[in-house]
Amino acid sequence: MNFHTLAASFDAAPGDPFHPAATPIYQTATFEQESPTELGPYDYSRSGNPTRAVLERQLARLERAEHAFAFSSGLAALTAVTRLLAPGDEIVAGSDLYGGSVRLFSRILAGRGVRVRYAEGSDAPAIIAAISPATRLVHVESPTNPLQRVCDIRRVARAAREAGALLCVDNTMLSPYLQNPLELGADVVIHSATKFLCGHSDVTAGAACVRDGALAESLYLIQNGEGAGLAPFESYLLLRGIKTLALRLDRQQESARRIAEFLASRAEVRRVHYLGLGTHPGREVHAAQARGPGAVLSFETGDPRRSEHLLRSLRLFGITVSFGGINSTASLPARMSHASVPPELRARQAPPEDLVRLSIGIEGCDDLIDDLSRGLEAAFGANLAPAEAGA
Ligand SMILES: *Cc1c(COP(=O)(O)O)cnc(C)c1O
Repeated sequence: MNFHTLAASFDAAPGDPFHPAATPIYQTATFEQESPTELGPYDYSRSGNPTRAVLERQLARLERAEHAFAFSSGLAALTAVTRLLAPGDEIVAGSDLYGGSVRLFSRILAGRGVRVRYAEGSDAPAIIAAISPATRLVHVESPTNPLQRVCDIRRVARAAREAGALLCVDNTMLSPYLQNPLELGADVVIHSATKFLCGHSDVTAGAACVRDGALAESLYLIQNGEGAGLAPFESYLLLRGIKTLALRLDRQQESARRIAEFLASRAEVRRVHYLGLGTHPGREVHAAQARGPGAVLSFETGDPRRSEHLLRSLRLFGITVSFGGINSTASLPARMSHASVPPELRARQAPPEDLVRLSIGIEGCDDLIDDLSRGLEAAFGANLAPAEAGA
């Protein structure tokens, strides 16, 4: 079935006698039982809640999974996956990862006896060479944020399988509309649903999606046993957001393509990182595993102070660390989302100081281009003190 059909057409309230068109928010912590010996399908919302169950069913359909689990954040979903590991196990991770994932691996898990080795995710042989007999989990993002490096998911999946390790792909940047890593051989897909899946910047949520039944049982034990499952109201908001995921992304991606071309044509812009441009080195691998470049792009101005000035001059782009919402946003990753990258990884994954990241929303594209054009003129017309200019 077409993704648009899957997103719009699902059983919003299984078993509900009133047949509501929208999923009710079962805002209840507990459920009465028929008798002490006859238990119903739900007893306690940490263990299961009908609103969350509809969301999880829908996430599984969209991600081409058999089972999905909704968590209180993307990092809670990733944490649940790492609970599958025991002391002595190793993680091999792409070195260009979301900063919070690096903090979890390097600062929290390292203290619990799980070792992590980083290798360049866009270099499949490097990732594969880092796999050892102790490797239990390989974790990658594709494309990465903000530099859009592409990992060959099929190739890494084969190597992980041969080594007896699980491959987990963080699919946040593209969402299930544009890429389904389980179809490429991954064992687990995680999402920060806070980003494109929700799309409205009003929920913090995460998801873990799998096909294997035993893996699903383990993840359910962790979700119920540790208590990080998503609450009913958040589940409702996320379900509502997901209905328009494909519509939003079609528009956001179309605007992102035009904006990338506009930026590439400007003399002030040194380099644009966007998989929708013909010049991107990861383009062929990406085209073989995904259905589009997405709506996040980044570019270099050659001068961190000009980049900062540009951000201050923009009117339609909010300055935020996040991405994926209906409003366009801009950030300086080196100063914002990636400022916490630990020193041992800085050299490998630190974004250039002058890099500007844009997440394109649903506004009129001409208005966004006018705003960027004005912002570039303001930033490059500004008089910077000679000692500081061109840093
Ligand atoms: C935001 C993000 C996360 C973490 O998700 P939260 O919902 O903020 O916990 C993980 N991976 C990627 C790629 C992200 O962008």
